[in-house]
Amino acid sequence: MSRPNPEIPSLPQASPILALLRELITRRSLTPEDAGCCELIAGRLQPLGFICEYLNAGGVTNLWAVRDQGAPLVVLAGHTDVVPPGPRERWNSDPFVPTLRDGWLYGRGAADMKSGLAAMVCATERLLTRREPRASLAFLITSDEEGHARHGTRHACEVLRARGVQPQYALIGEASSLERLGDRIVIGRRGSLGCDLRVFGKQGHVAYPQRADNPIHRLAPMLTELIATHWDDGTEHFPPTSLQISNFNAGTGANNVIPGHADLVFNFRYCPASTAASLRQRVDAVLDHHLARYDADWWHSGEPFYTAPGLLVGAARGAVRAVTGLDPELSTGGGTSDGRFLAPLGAQVIEVGPVNASIHQVDERIEIADLERLCEIYLHLLLTLV
Ligand SMILES: [Zn+2]
Repeated sequence: MSRPNPEIPSLPQASPILALLRELITRRSLTPEDAGCCELIAGRLQPLGFICEYLNAGGVTNLWAVRDQGAPLVVLAGHTDVVPPGPRERWNSDPFVPTLRDGWLYGRGAADMKSGLAAMVCATERLLTRREPRASLAFLITSDEEGHARHGTRHACEVLRARGVQPQYALIGEASSLERLGDRIVIGRRGSLGCDLRVFGKQGHVAYPQRADNPIHRLAPMLTELIATHWDDGTEHFPPTSLQISNFNAGTGANNVIPGHADLVFNFRYCPASTAASLRQRVDAVLDHHLARYDADWWHSGEPFYTAPGLLVGAARGAVRAVTGLDPELSTGGGTSDGRFLAPLGAQVIEVGPVNASIHQVDERIEIADLERLCEIYLHLLLTLV
């Protein structure tokens, strides 16, 4: 492992990335509010030759900014919305007043992911002062990634698909690093499939079980079988599919009543060795075996996506190595991301961004020196791709 590149200067407090990040944090963009973040970014992109358009829906702001030079098309993607800060008194400074302390910038969104946005915008500015790209560049920025995500990148990608827009590469500036900037990049995510299950029985007195049908007793062996099932072995880059039960509710509160129904919520995080359809089929077989009457309400919130090591992953690795000296781990861990909507457009998708240790927490922060390095990583990556 080599040392960080000494040629990259430490960040002066008046740096353009820091200034842009501070302006973004000041805007209270709680999901699905954008609070003017996209307008601020569009104001930076327009002078660079980007055509900016809003693909808004359902109260969500979606900025689509394109600098069209023909194929290939590289999309820089991200979100302006942030999760609620929680109680103000648990923060050492106001979450919406960006505050510098000991080489760190504190504020909601400092890591997830307003720093990624600021660094991507500034990297694009730097690229265009160096040379004219040989490819099209676009920004796709939404204000609904942390919430239901129905009207955000999902909606924008549906509009783009209808127009025949086909990005080759997508870079998402999500906080992908674990301990140090660049120690990990994300090259895929598992799929998510969930089910709200209601099991019906017949209510009755516990003293007369022959006149009732206890749904909890039906559920218990079914649960044992579901929990013990081996769904698949995973793949080279994905852990095996896992099923987790998140809610189990039954009972009237009285100690002498067999309830009429029981409710269960479970969720699969699945790898490409299984499909949503195959998992449903296997669960249905277990339900039919154990249960007499039930309602299963399935929700599929994302296909898995995976970008095999190739040009994009290689470019990202090279960029991280050049700037930080680290050889990043290639990961498919964590929850879902908006990459699930970009990948079906045909794009190779990766996530490269700051350290995620403080995301969604109080005193969310980013090391100031990492801001400049992140911008340089994006610039290196863009210079290879376009
Ligand atoms: Zn995020």
